[in-house]
Amino acid sequence: MKGFQQTLQNKISIRGQALHCGKTVAVTLIPQPVDTGIRFCRVDHPEQPILPAKPGNIVDTTRSISLGTDHWRIQTIEHLMAAFHGLAVDNLLVEVDGPEIPLGDGSAQYFVEQILQAGLAVQEKPRKVRKITAPVWVTDGDDPRSYLIALPGEGFRISYCFTSDHKVTGTQFAQYVNDPETFQRKLAPARTIAFWRELEVLRKQGLALGGNMEIAVVVGEEGYLNQLKYDDEIVRHKILDVLGDLYLLGPLEGEIIGIRSGHKLDLELALKLEEHLG
Ligand SMILES: [Zn+2]
Repeated sequence: MKGFQQTLQNKISIRGQALHCGKTVAVTLIPQPVDTGIRFCRVDHPEQPILPAKPGNIVDTTRSISLGTDHWRIQTIEHLMAAFHGLAVDNLLVEVDGPEIPLGDGSAQYFVEQILQAGLAVQEKPRKVRKITAPVWVTDGDDPRSYLIALPGEGFRISYCFTSDHKVTGTQFAQYVNDPETFQRKLAPARTIAFWRELEVLRKQGLALGGNMEIAVVVGEEGYLNQLKYDDEIVRHKILDVLGDLYLLGPLEGEIIGIRSGHKLDLELALKLEEHLG
């Protein structure tokens, strides 16, 4: 999206339970000057290290996106990044006092509400929107049916095809044109997916996620085990993840097409795209 760069009017703190370590984590969003981008800081670390949200600073893409180094990391940054992308927030320092961003209800809704409550501040310089200048794609060797494709185009659009043999979810397709109003209405509330049989395994391992029905669309053998926000909530969340992950490149112009892709391909595409952006 074009227009002027934005930050927040006020600093805000968002608290929530971290999924893996189980403790309460505070995420503080601090307004920043133009051209500084999105940066993350682990404030509970003795050196309080800061890293920009860039593809080269991602250290893990298993189930979520983790930013950091060999010595420290911040896990599950993608839904917060999706909120920044969807609302067109350019410059912020994100201080986190723990190893992961709280999951909330598994969507970006909570972050969006807090950001809008703090208020967006329009800054004095135009956004630097980078154009996808040539077709670029990645595919997963472990799943040759999965693709993530970037094409030149006007505006910024994401199309996604979710396919599954699971009889409850079936195949879902959706298309999203990036715009803050559409983002708030159609994408931000879409929650992540969890299969009941996987939750049971996690619960047996003693992880907090096990059995928690508040943080995901839970898919049982015969049907959904909680109320859906949209009939196609799963594919909407997949688009939310792509939106968050690709914000590691900042605002983009072009078209993205995902088929069965996930965080691993998002990062591979982002790394490859860096060489093909205008
Ligand atoms: Zn997600």
